[in-house]
Amino acid sequence: MDYKGVWILGEQDRGKVQTVSYELLKRGKTLAEKLNVDLVAVLLGYQVSPAELESLIHYGADKVVYVDDPVFGNFLPDPYINSLTKLIDKYKPEILIASATSTGRTVAPAIAIKCHAGLTADCTGLDIEEGSRNLIQTRPAIGGNILATIKSPDHRPQMATVRPHSNQPMDPDPTRKGEVIYEKLEAKFLKSRSRQVAFIEMKEEGANIQDAEIVIAGGKGCKTEENFKMITELAKILNGAVGASREAVDLGWAKYPHQVGLSGKTVSPSMYLCAGISGAVQHLAGIKTAQNIVAINSDPDAQIFQLADIAVEADMFEFLPMLIEKLKARLNK
Ligand SMILES: Cc1cc2nc3c(=O)[nH]c(=O)nc-3n(C[C@H](O)[C@H](O)[C@H](O)COP(=O)(O)OP(=O)(O)OC[C@H]3O[C@@H](n4cnc5c(N)ncnc54)[C@H](O)[C@@H]3O)c2cc1C
Repeated sequence: MDYKGVWILGEQDRGKVQTVSYELLKRGKTLAEKLNVDLVAVLLGYQVSPAELESLIHYGADKVVYVDDPVFGNFLPDPYINSLTKLIDKYKPEILIASATSTGRTVAPAIAIKCHAGLTADCTGLDIEEGSRNLIQTRPAIGGNILATIKSPDHRPQMATVRPHSNQPMDPDPTRKGEVIYEKLEAKFLKSRSRQVAFIEMKEEGANIQDAEIVIAGGKGCKTEENFKMITELAKILNGAVGASREAVDLGWAKYPHQVGLSGKTVSPSMYLCAGISGAVQHLAGIKTAQNIVAINSDPDAQIFQLADIAVEADMFEFLPMLIEKLKARLNK
């Protein structure tokens, strides 16, 4: 097979390279080093500045393949899928990884079909098999209870999507040098059967929980919607975002965009403080990259304590009001 190189699908939003691209570069770097090949970031966009493109090199790419066209000003599936398929056909990377964002989840399966490639969605681990160039793709299966290891030895490229925010990017190195290749594609690859009618920003609180530096989350232990308001209040005092377990969401105390975990969002704040959350494996899947976890639970055997940096064994109805009062006094709120 004459396929060579590791590609990551970069993402941009109105000209700004998105953090998920840098996260993928870290994953891709390990693979490219093991295979002794270049790490390439492919990006489709409109008027993305040279500085933004260079940033991909600073974060680990050896090369950037960039296609500039007004059709990429906003995400439309057809031109993305057709252009990427064409580029894969031209450059023949042996691995392509994308983020499991709405963009990645939309384009990756369609490209995999067009390229007759295998695709593993929502991977939590990627590695290279010893003695071969196969991509070992690990992902939770059966509700997160087992980890499945998947490979596609007979087809190239090997494709995987990775949960956004499931790893931190490398530190950028502004002295790193690389090549930016400006690709031009024929008009037939840029056609779209759909068009964008309007762009309406999601204003709902909680939509940005994945980017929050502080997340305060509550679970079923809150017992009522009224009590869950303590979580909201604490988040407000600390300028944090509100997170919730699936139980809390199912009970209607928080809306779905706030759900943290396997079927919700992955967060990687510097502090994740949670109260009344048991720490089910599906919840923990969403907080593994949090830098500090503070867990408040009245059960000394709660599973959340196994992952917590600070374990507070306490009744949250006694502990949280005290904490809120003390913080209010200290922060003059
Ligand atoms: C396919 C699948 C996907 C899933 N996806 C997700 C997901 O994305 N996110 C998610 O969260 N879950 C998910 N789940 C559900 C998950 O398995 C758990 O059911 C859920 O996380 C439990 O939520 P909880 O911790 O709020 O509730 P519980 O497990 O009921 O825990 C409540 C906790 O509150 C504590 N508590 C009670 N009273 C107090 C008190 N006074 N003070 C302090 N602590 C107290 C208890 O000790 C207990 O530990 C998923 C399940 C499946 C099968």
